[in-house]
Amino acid sequence: MTNGLRYTGPIYRPPSEANSLLVQTTIGCPWNKCTFCMVYKKGPKFKIRSVKEIKEDLLWAKENYNSSVKTVFFPSGNTIIMKTEDFVEILKYTRKLFPNLKRITIYGSAQYVVQKGLDDLKKIAKAGLSRIHVGLESGDDVILKRIKKGSTKDIQIRAGKLVKKAGIKLSEYIILGIGGKERTKEHVEETVKALNNIYPDFIRIRTFLPKISTPILEEIQSGAFQILSPCEVLQETYTLIKELKVTSQVYSDHYTNYIHVNGKLPEDRDTMLQTIETALKRDEKSFRKVYIGTV
Ligand code: SF4
Repeated sequence: MTNGLRYTGPIYRPPSEANSLLVQTTIGCPWNKCTFCMVYKKGPKFKIRSVKEIKEDLLWAKENYNSSVKTVFFPSGNTIIMKTEDFVEILKYTRKLFPNLKRITIYGSAQYVVQKGLDDLKKIAKAGLSRIHVGLESGDDVILKRIKKGSTKDIQIRAGKLVKKAGIKLSEYIILGIGGKERTKEHVEETVKALNNIYPDFIRIRTFLPKISTPILEEIQSGAFQILSPCEVLQETYTLIKELKVTSQVYSDHYTNYIHVNGKLPEDRDTMLQTIETALKRDEKSFRKVYIGTV
């Protein structure tokens, strides 16, 4: 029994899940090595919650929120790592409690999606998972290694294709500027290649913004990593939008971005490119500061 929803550690969710019921299935991140990510660097230690506890929270939500629950997101960093039979049980229970749900979504890193495999992903899809949010960040293997993402372009492509083949919607996140000045060209080229191969349903754009307690901040302070200016980031955005050969919904739904470029590819490409061209003519000082918050 519980008197409310129980949360441990930071609770992150995609902006698109702002109105979702958040029931924690895992605590922390089993990987926790990405050099740009501060979310769980100070803990808590990774843990998978028990099915019993998760069900208690779901039941409490049913009794207290019932009809207002339209979508569910299961934090934390990598819920895809849950044992398939346990996750299937949770998904079925959730669908039974809330029969009118529009979607259930989770985060899942490419390496864990690949480990899960197609058969298990299909079982998860059948039990009711609608969408997985995957952090591609970059398609460039050199960058992926530097930022300690734990995957390669090949793993990212395999993971993306598996998710889609299983019948689950795929949301891929990329970080503009994550290659710094040194690899901006390769970052865009290889990210375009990866996305054109994966063909995700959604592409979500973020801009690299160094955060406190992250290893990459030390690289910036030592001069090893040179951060892009707003116009250099916009140039990456321009090339990306121009070169993508996908039918995906693009969102730049994040405070880190210098401008918001949203639309459906390919039909909105020209409008999106015009938005970027206009922004490129602006004085760089008119954009958000390169460093914001506590760094
Ligand atoms: S996998 Fe996600 S949550 Fe985990 S360290 Fe990397 S970015 Fe952070």
